[in-house]
Amino acid sequence: MIHLKQTIKDLAKKYSNEFIDIRHHLHANPELSYEEFETSAFIQKKLQAFDIPYQVMATTGVVGVIEGNNPSSRTIALRADIDALPIIEENDISYKSTKKGIMHACGHDVHTTCLLGAAKILKETAAEWNGTVKLIFQPGEERNPGGASIMIKEGVLQNPAPQAIFGLHVHPQLPIGQLSFRGGQVMASADEIYITIKGKGGHAAAPHLTVDTILIASTLIVSLQQIVSRNNNPLSPSVLSICSIQGGHTTNVIPSEVKLMGTFRALDEKWRFKAHELIKKQATELVRAMGAEIDVLIDVGYPSVYNHEELTAASRKLAEDYMGTEHVETTEVRMGAEDFGYYTQQIPGCFYRLGVMNEEKGITSGVHTPTFNIDESAIEIGIGMMAWLGANGKL
Ligand SMILES: [Zn+2]
Ligand SMILES: [Zn+2]
Repeated sequence: MIHLKQTIKDLAKKYSNEFIDIRHHLHANPELSYEEFETSAFIQKKLQAFDIPYQVMATTGVVGVIEGNNPSSRTIALRADIDALPIIEENDISYKSTKKGIMHACGHDVHTTCLLGAAKILKETAAEWNGTVKLIFQPGEERNPGGASIMIKEGVLQNPAPQAIFGLHVHPQLPIGQLSFRGGQVMASADEIYITIKGKGGHAAAPHLTVDTILIASTLIVSLQQIVSRNNNPLSPSVLSICSIQGGHTTNVIPSEVKLMGTFRALDEKWRFKAHELIKKQATELVRAMGAEIDVLIDVGYPSVYNHEELTAASRKLAEDYMGTEHVETTEVRMGAEDFGYYTQQIPGCFYRLGVMNEEKGITSGVHTPTFNIDESAIEIGIGMMAWLGANGKL
């Protein structure tokens, strides 16, 4: 195993420039969720070149399989998301997005690169590790219903069925050279809330002749905040944010309708669905008590991401072995969402973070910003670590 670790490190170093070029190609050619046709074709071409068999799933997803020794002894899945965002890139770089209004601003170009690099290394070292590694290149992470849910429906976790799945995300707050892990609930569920309040519009000077939807909406927004603060266990993070209020268009007319939109996030899946009921009940009763009618729609999005405790502890040990203990940290819990949560609902999973920040080089922008970028020495670490987990990761 010491031999394999060194081999993987050497190969990651040897191939790092090749994969930085691959990242540049992907970065310059981003595609939106579920439209990743060129990206998918590029991945397929690379897998062909690496002599790795694959199949296409969920239209633009690609699933490759590499067999090591005793292929049936262990099956591990490695997952990368491949889609980009509707953002206009503001970086002044040679590999800037060539597609106006589309940008790899969440680092999925890096994730795809890391998995391709790991694939090449795992194929080359297949005689030195046991089991089967499934490579999941997944579309549509950034948009409901989430490419993960589609691929699971299409059978990505069967034939062969992985016992565990690993995924990584670039982390712009984590310095280059560092990795981070955390067991348990690590990212939140994300559900969208749409509320329409229907009252009776009229002259602003005669509110007694109206059912004032603006006042009702204001009362409702304040009231809804009490659901999280009074009904949720304060030890389990949860957030309700109303982010849009639309109604009325002038100073002296009370509108007959107001629309609210917001997001609800939670770590605990039981609380999540209990909260949905509370939101619907409280909103309906309050609005009706104030004389208006209401429609509440909660669009259920991604589940929370649960990192299997033992798998994550074992993976962290592998990372410490590969990187050195001083290069492995504990990730903070985040209220962002990830469709990786669909996999962790099905099988043990470990979603870890790759440090890409470099303050000296001014690389500090967050994901989903027009200036997001990475310190590209992360590529060598990313492909090596993913190959190392592919070769050794297990419960
Ligand atoms: Zn994102
Ligand atoms: Zn992302």
